Amino acid sequence: MQRPETKAIRIQTPQTDQKEHATPLFLTSSFTYESAEEMAAAFADDSLDVNIYSRFSNPTVDEFISKMAALEGAEDGIATGTGMAAIFGTFMTFLGKGDHIISASAVFGSTHTILTKYLPKWGIESSYFNMSDPAEIASLIKPNTKMLYVESPSNPGLDIIDIEAISALCKKHNILFVVDNCFATPAVQQPIRHGADLVLHSATKFIDGQGRVLGGVVVGRKELINPLYLFIRNTGPSLSPFNAWVLTKSLETLFVRMDRHAENALKIARELKKHAQVSWVKYPFLEDHPQYEIAKKQMSNGGGIVTFELKGGVDSGRKFLNELKMLSMTNNLGDSRSIASHPASTTHSKLTEAERKEVGITPGLIRISVGLEHVGDILGDIVQALDKLSS
Ligand SMILES: *Cc1c(COP(=O)(O)O)cnc(C)c1O
Repeated sequence: MQRPETKAIRIQTPQTDQKEHATPLFLTSSFTYESAEEMAAAFADDSLDVNIYSRFSNPTVDEFISKMAALEGAEDGIATGTGMAAIFGTFMTFLGKGDHIISASAVFGSTHTILTKYLPKWGIESSYFNMSDPAEIASLIKPNTKMLYVESPSNPGLDIIDIEAISALCKKHNILFVVDNCFATPAVQQPIRHGADLVLHSATKFIDGQGRVLGGVVVGRKELINPLYLFIRNTGPSLSPFNAWVLTKSLETLFVRMDRHAENALKIARELKKHAQVSWVKYPFLEDHPQYEIAKKQMSNGGGIVTFELKGGVDSGRKFLNELKMLSMTNNLGDSRSIASHPASTTHSKLTEAERKEVGITPGLIRISVGLEHVGDILGDIVQALDKLSS
């Protein structure tokens, strides 16, 4: 049996009669048949194995799904146009009127918006727990609780949850356990191996890895993926074949990229701890991370995101961004280019300070998506910007 690093490269659409070596791009809306009977059979096929129309399935998209399922240790998967479509589709497929979902309070902004603004419109209620206090979850479970939703590590708090422990609790209460594995990627953590039911991703981030295309994916057991597939197929947020082609090529380098992202991130985290302008640094593989032992248990490295707090608060955050010479100022993450963001003055500026605190965003919090440049150049830029804060 091939190892994951090999599968990420060698799982491939069956070769066409052109004998191409690299994976081909099937940029076609629909597929043809030799006869009326064959076409009738395609539409009658419940195994869903025959290509009909690219909203339903497409060989390039299927290759990307096959790789993601293999890397996550899942039976099957579906792909979507964005990470949000994967998340929304998962909620819509498994939740209905009168159901209840429990979610970590610190989740991606648009996920939080779906939970708080849209689900109530359809009679779906939600409760929230703080990632630093997972013991709270048991007290939130109700007879109509159908789903538990977490990101681990979380964005941008980098909190870690014990996936194995939570999955045991969910199994006991017959609750579907869904993990957004976007920050770790399957190269670092495979939540299904620790008992999660469904794992989803914004493939826009580390899966693409070069900030080019948007995409999403959900993987899990066949019996769960089938209804999700039908929801996506009928409602339409399918992944485009072109984006799937970019993403499946990206997966070939996922393991080497994640190794280097994490190696650079750990070095930067250790160095930042020594700087006078920095009050604390958070990174899953730093010994003083509050859930360091859990991170070590379920992740193979600490991933590519580092956060730290500036002593000077909001003003220093803004000044720090302005002083950077190389790091990009953008809201994306998981790119070969290092990115800095200051949530309190940008992405989360509309929240009150108390609301920001609840989701782990302190006034001087800087999030670095550590890229693949030489670590000396990344660190050099960060340190020269920090040094300016003292003057
Ligand atoms: C970016 C992101 C999403 C949303 O994905 P899109 O591809 O932008 O729709 C969801 N979860 C996490 C953790 C993310 O970082």
